[in-house]
Formats: sequence, C-alpha cells, structure tokens
Amino acid sequence: MNFNLGIIGAGPAGYTAAFQARAKGMSVVLFEKDKVGGVCLNKGCIPTKAILHSAELYDEMKCSADLGINCSDISVDYAKVVERKDKIVEKLRKSLELSLKNAGVVTVNAEAKVLDNGKIAANSEIYECEKIITATGSVPRDFENLRFDHEFVLSSDDILNLKTLPKSILIIGSGAIGVEWARIFSAFDVAVTVVELAEHILPLADIEVSKRVERIFKAKKIKTYLSNSVEKIEDKKVYLSSGDVLEPELVLLATGRKPNPLDNALSCIGDACGKIQLAHFAIKQAVAEVLGIEFNEELVPSVVYGCPEIAWVGKREQDLEEGTYKKSNLLISAIGKSHCDNCSEGFIKILSHNGKILGAHIVSKEASALIQQIIIAMQNNLSTDDLKKVCFAHPTYSEGIFECLFR
Ligand SMILES: Cc1cc2nc3c(=O)[nH]c(=O)nc-3n(C[C@H](O)[C@H](O)[C@H](O)COP(=O)(O)OP(=O)(O)OC[C@H]3O[C@@H](n4cnc5c(N)ncnc54)[C@H](O)[C@@H]3O)c2cc1C
Repeated sequence: MNFNLGIIGAGPAGYTAAFQARAKGMSVVLFEKDKVGGVCLNKGCIPTKAILHSAELYDEMKCSADLGINCSDISVDYAKVVERKDKIVEKLRKSLELSLKNAGVVTVNAEAKVLDNGKIAANSEIYECEKIITATGSVPRDFENLRFDHEFVLSSDDILNLKTLPKSILIIGSGAIGVEWARIFSAFDVAVTVVELAEHILPLADIEVSKRVERIFKAKKIKTYLSNSVEKIEDKKVYLSSGDVLEPELVLLATGRKPNPLDNALSCIGDACGKIQLAHFAIKQAVAEVLGIEFNEELVPSVVYGCPEIAWVGKREQDLEEGTYKKSNLLISAIGKSHCDNCSEGFIKILSHNGKILGAHIVSKEASALIQQIIIAMQNNLSTDDLKKVCFAHPTYSEGIFECLFR
C-alpha cells in the first residue's frame, strides 16, 4: 500500500498532521496502537479537566450559603464523577474517529515500526510512504528506587481510574500534573501532602507565582515538604530525605514524563521529541511540519489548573537581572468582577523593558484565557503603550491587564 504520508501516533501531534496533510490533498495513513486522541484525550488534558470541573463545583457548593444559596447534605459520588469523565472522553474520541474518517485519513489500529526506505510495518503489512512523521508521545516516568506498582504507587494513568476517593494521598512532584491533582483531591476533602525536590512548588514558574501557590496550599491545608525527596517506599511507608516517614493511603508519582521516540524516526514531533510536553506545542509542531507555518517557541503558554488557575509566558523574574526591567503588578482583588465571583485570590504581573513585554505571570480565575491576550501582544511586538490604547470590557478579568499596565 502506498501513501504520500505515514504518521505513527494519533495524539494531538499525529492527528493534527493527518488533518492538515489531507487538506493539502495528500494520501495519509495514521497508525495508533492504543486509542485515537493519544494521552491528551484519553489520559491527560481532557479527563483531568472533566474531573476538575466536578471538584470545582463541589468546592463552590461548600460555601454556597455565603452566596445566598442553601443546599444541605451535599456529598460526592466519586464513581459518578469518573463515569462522567469516561463518557466525555468516549464522546470526543468517537467524534475524532469520525472526523478522521470523513477527512479520508486511513487509520490503522496497530503498533507500527519504521523500516528503512520509507516503509512502515504494522499488522503484518508493509506500508510504503513518501514521508513519515512519528508522533509517539511520552509515558509516565518512574525511578529505580521508586517504581509504579499500580496499587499503592500510582501513575497519572492509574489515578484516573480510581472508583473511590482515598482518605489521604501523597503526591510526589509539584509540576502541572501534581498541582492539578492536589487541587482536585483537596477539593474533595482528601488529605493531600506534596513532596517536592526543589525549594519551591511549581519549580518552573516565576518565583512569586510559586510562593503564592504555596500560600494557597497552606490555606487549603495541603501539606508540603519542599527541598525533599523520597528515598524509598517500603510496606506502604514513604521515607523522605528529611527523615520524615509518611503513611498515606495512596501515592501519586507525578515526576514528569519520558519521551517515547521510535527507532529509525527521521521526523519526530510532539511529546516524543522531548522538548515542551504540552498538547498545544504538539499541535503547533504538527502544523509547522506539514504546512511550514513556523511559530515562536518562546511564546508557548504554560497553564496549571490550580485554584485559581495559573498561567505564564516569557521571562520569569528570576531570569532577569535586577534594574533591567519594569515590574507591573495588580492584585486580582482590585478587580470588581473577582469579588462578584467570590474568587479574588491572585495577581497579574507583567515584566517589561522600555515598553517591550518580556513576560507575564498570572494567578487568577480565567488565567488560561488572560495569558493568550498577552501572547498575542508579544507575538505582534505590541508595547505596553499600545496595549494601553486597547478598550477592555468591564467588568472582566481582562481589564486587570489594562489596570496592571498603569502600575
Ligand atoms: C495527566 C495529564 C494532564 C495533562 N494536561 C495537559 C493540559 O492541560 N494541557 C496540555 O497542553 N497538555 C497536557 N498534558 C500533556 C499532553 O497530554 C501531551 O503533551 C500531548 O498528549 C502530547 O501529544 P502527542 O501527540 O505528542 O503524544 P500523545 O498524546 O502521547 O500520543 C502519542 C500516541 O502515539 C501512540 N503510539 C506510540 N507508539 C506507537 C507505535 N509504535 N505505533 C502506533 N502508535 C503508537 C500512543 O499510543 C499514543 O496514543 C497532560 C498530560 C497528562 C499526563
């Protein structure tokens, strides 16, 4: 069988490349050994946000009386939360499968291997492709002294399938996945402890963001052990480098993901290439690969679904030399809408030099949407003065960006 393009892996990188190539008129075969949609749709972005939505609703309902809504006897049916998540994932996956079919992509449900000379082997068949793209993603990372046993020490895949909530959980690692699950479990009243090797939570974030998240964690009674590592786990006891011994009901090991590249792969995109492991980065790489539309890798947003959301782009304060930048800062409590929403925690911080925006760091409800406005400005070299000319609607969180620029 001959195709213009063979793609291995049907996550966001692979399926985006497939759609774009078909739109260009190429014949495309797409191989997937597990489920179409990849980690993003089946084990990552989508299922976690479905569970997060239930967690946020429950959290809000707990203080609904303050907002004039009385609801007694609220409780969590976690099996139902998970069932809803599964339904959403299934619906979206079916829709993606149908779209691929309608677009004329030939999807082969099998593990594929790249052979020499543009050949792919799968399902005991050989597919000849003028070009091959591999987009084989990444897998949860564990360590020699810290292995997933899938019963007590869970991966981010395992945790999605719990049918009941534990009484307590220890989360190892405070990156995006660790913080998101800390937020979810703490909303569901699980006792959460986080262990982080670095000095601060969210080590890749701006230092003020990390410190703010630590404060929020403290307020939510999420216990943290910073500058600490897990030395060993034995008999359901977790031994930390500080000498502390913890006995949680479950452990979530959230210490990053290992790229899963294929041998003989000439062109690799998405998580497998070991750069930025985010779905939107994978999608942009696929578009660049197939259509040649380049993008600025410095302007990729980072979003963490904490409480509230956290988002950033560009330089962090600790990356910049003192005296070489201006810092504009606005507390979210200065925005009227935040009080209406009962969500006035956080800040917007914009770092600039002579009007050029260097970076922005936001802890706020809707931070995921707000950061996009800054990225559009940065991408188009709009200065802080240009942004001051923009009319932002009231009352919104967006006007916080406007207000911030005058600080
Ligand atoms: C818990 C969690 C939450 C996340 N939340 C977010 C988020 O909110 N926002 C965000 O941007 N990112 C998030 N991510 C990251 C995001 O899921 C990944 O960056 C994204 O899925 C990468 O896409 P990809 O196409 O490169 O790889 P993947 O989605 O991993 O897809 C790769 C596919 O290749 C298949 N494959 C591998 N080898 C073969 C082979 N030999 N033959 C056939 N098929 C093969 C795999 O089965 C897989 O389906 C999250 C990840 C996790 C784990």
